[in-house]
Formats: sequence, C-alpha cells, structure tokens
Amino acid sequence: MLPIIEKLLILQDRDHRLHRARTELGSIGPQRQTLQNKATDVQARLDAVKLRGKQIESERKRLELDAEAKNAQIAKYSLQQFQTKKNEEYKALAHEIELCKEAISKLEDQQLEFMEQADQVAKDIAAATAEAKNSKRDVDLLVADLATLELNLKKQIADLEADRARQVAEVDASALNRYERLLKSKGDSVVVSIEHGACGGCHMKLTTQTVRTCQGMGEITTCPHCGRILYYERGMDLVAAD
Ligand SMILES: [Zn+2]
Repeated sequence: MLPIIEKLLILQDRDHRLHRARTELGSIGPQRQTLQNKATDVQARLDAVKLRGKQIESERKRLELDAEAKNAQIAKYSLQQFQTKKNEEYKALAHEIELCKEAISKLEDQQLEFMEQADQVAKDIAAATAEAKNSKRDVDLLVADLATLELNLKKQIADLEADRARQVAEVDASALNRYERLLKSKGDSVVVSIEHGACGGCHMKLTTQTVRTCQGMGEITTCPHCGRILYYERGMDLVAAD
C-alpha cells in the first residue's frame, strides 16, 4: 500500500470517529430537551389537578357559607315570628322559613357532590404527586447520564482533534487538499477499497486498467466515476463478482 494511502486511511479513521462523536454530542441537547419537556408535562398535570382540588374546596366553602346565611335568616324569621302578634305575618314568616329550609337542603346536596369530587381529586393528586416524584427521579438520573456522556464526548473529540492534527502534519499538502475536497463533497468515506472489481464508494465497476494502476501502487488512483481515492491491499477481491 502506498505510504500516503496508509496515512490518509488513518486520517479518515480519525475523521469517521470525529464525525460519530460530534453527531452523538449534537444529539445530547435534543435528548435533554425531551427529558425536560417530559418533566414539565408531568409537573403541569400535577399543578392542574391541585388547582382543581382548590376550586372544589372553595366551591364547597361557598355552599357552606350560603347554608350558614340561610340558617341565620331562619333564626331571624323565627325571632320575628315569636315577636309578632299578627297571624298573617306569622304565616308569611313560616313560608320564608320553609323556603330557607328547602334552599339549605339543596345546598347540602350540592355540598355532598363536591365532597365526593374532592375525594376523587385527592386520589388524583396523590397519584400525580407520586408520578411527578418518580418521573423527576428518572429524569434527574438520565440528565446526569447525559452530562457524563457529554463530558466524555467533549474529551474524546478534543483528543481526536489533537490526533487528527498530528496525522495531518504527516500528509503532504496536495494529497491532503485532495482528501479534504473529496470529504467536503462526499461527506463519508473518500479513501475506499476495491470490492469485487468495483469502487468501494460508488460501487461502479472499474476497468482492468484502473485496477492495475491501483495495484501497481505507483501513484494515487481515483475512481473515474466518483473521484474517490482507491487503494489496494493484498488479498482484495479485484475480480468482478459476475
Ligand atoms: Zn467510485
């Protein structure tokens, strides 16, 4: 194998690893965001059910106060009944008292409904609280894992970048230029092997002449179809599969 090809393969290996590490690093932000969204959703559900609990409680209180007011009215009418000498007025007051009692009975029924709802909401709050607690624990663990992974990847990238710089220094300028231009246009493997007589990059069949030139190891050979740099290693299958 041409020494320059060996160097380019090492460089390409670092670039592949760098690409993988940077892609993984880039995915951490969205992953963290997804986790935070999940935590926010769970908390929002808990807040909503708590708010519902407060609303029910204040409704129930309001009914209680209404019933107290009606009871006070009854007391007032009873006193007036006691004080009056007029039969008509006594009857009118008795009617008012009856109305108040009916209203109180309705208010008590409504209060009962709210109490049943309050029982259900208390259960919902307990469930949502437990869910929020579990979810927070899970999210905290996963976020901590992501932070560790992020640190490791950053270190890995820094190491790979330093290593890449050392490899680059080993490669002559024109070959490096060629490699980097190809990398920019192809974005993946640009130094490729010959597989079954075809280019390992674009998989187009190569002419015997191209394969021989590559095998001769006299110069850098490129694929006439895609322009990738071809390399030959002993034992490679140079013959077309068909
Ligand atoms: Zn090709």
